[in-house]
Amino acid sequence: LSRLRSLRGRSLSDKYTVNWKQVLGEGAYGSVHPARLKATGEKVALKKITKRYTDTSSFCRETDALLRIYNNGGHPNISGLRDMYEDHDYYYLVMDLVSGGEMFDHLIEYGAYSEADAARLMREVASALAFLHGVGVAHADLKPENLLLCSKKRVDGTIKMIDFGCAVVEKNDLEYLEDEDDDDDGSDEDHLDDGDKMQHHGKHSTATQKKTSDLHQTLKSWIETLNQKNNEIGSSMEHEVESTGTTAYWPPERFDKSKSPDYASDMWAVGVILFIMLTGVHPFDLTGVATDAEIAEQIQKDPSPPITPSLTSHLSPAAIDLIQMLMDPNPVDRLTADEMLEHPWIAGDEASTDVIQ
Ligand code: ADP
Ligand code: MG
Repeated sequence: LSRLRSLRGRSLSDKYTVNWKQVLGEGAYGSVHPARLKATGEKVALKKITKRYTDTSSFCRETDALLRIYNNGGHPNISGLRDMYEDHDYYYLVMDLVSGGEMFDHLIEYGAYSEADAARLMREVASALAFLHGVGVAHADLKPENLLLCSKKRVDGTIKMIDFGCAVVEKNDLEYLEDEDDDDDGSDEDHLDDGDKMQHHGKHSTATQKKTSDLHQTLKSWIETLNQKNNEIGSSMEHEVESTGTTAYWPPERFDKSKSPDYASDMWAVGVILFIMLTGVHPFDLTGVATDAEIAEQIQKDPSPPITPSLTSHLSPAAIDLIQMLMDPNPVDRLTADEMLEHPWIAGDEASTDVIQ
């Protein structure tokens, strides 16, 4: 309890200077702003989440996934959680800042990528996913809006994955979700070290587990409060939260309502993103298609990627092979993230340097 109280009492402005006027991104949940660590001047991103509009389940998805990632040492191609706060109206998640904008905007500004550039970025995405899936997290909302680039230039960007609001976390080895925390020694060190970049702690480092337990205690109290509030106001957001993610990136099997997204869904989405990066167009003709039901129909009607002369004749055989293996309509046969890392187009130098005109 003493620990909880002290975490609650911490104030964001003691440690960070936030530039509230600059908005990095906005959504129904609230907004994302740049901030600086006062002690070192280091830049971070602050995701401010409005408590009143927060639906418990997506908030839990996001924080569960971020914790799992943190607990396993983080990954260079995932924007990690560094710290968190709350006040009366908001939750605040302090994240690694990624300042080059969304891949979505890069695609709009520069058009399709050369195979060589796309292969370099896709290697990073595959590496992030191999890590993520290895620790039991499916992202479930991969799309060019949720892949941020570290540079505004096309050529020298590194990718960082964001937005775990739809993530699915496997519960089997959630060691930190057990209530093992009865070692109340009264110490309440800050759960994340000032200015420290997240270190690769390895899976079961004691230091990491201790810190995670503090993070988890804070989170748990947030979630309990939220649940209570939802009940009190009997709000419309109660349990209607089934539509998650953007259907244009869903594999055919995900439209079956009984099936929740999994690792294979992420790999399909990567295939769609790769197709867009290399051709500049979405693989399914979604023009004039407005509703999720229509998108579902379109994707289920013919889920194979359109390998046609007009769209893909400029691509190398290895690129086409990878697209087809990622967008395999059968999830069982679809490439995994580990397999993707081994694919010649990703691992070798088969990616052509030509770019579509
Ligand atoms: P939502 O769940 O509403 O999609 P996101 O986490 O995707 O929220 O954040 C919304 C937008 O804010 C992103 O698309 C991106 O433009 C910006 N953003 C989010 N996280 C960061 C970050 N770590 N660094 C820079 N910009 C970010
Ligand atoms: Mg998003």
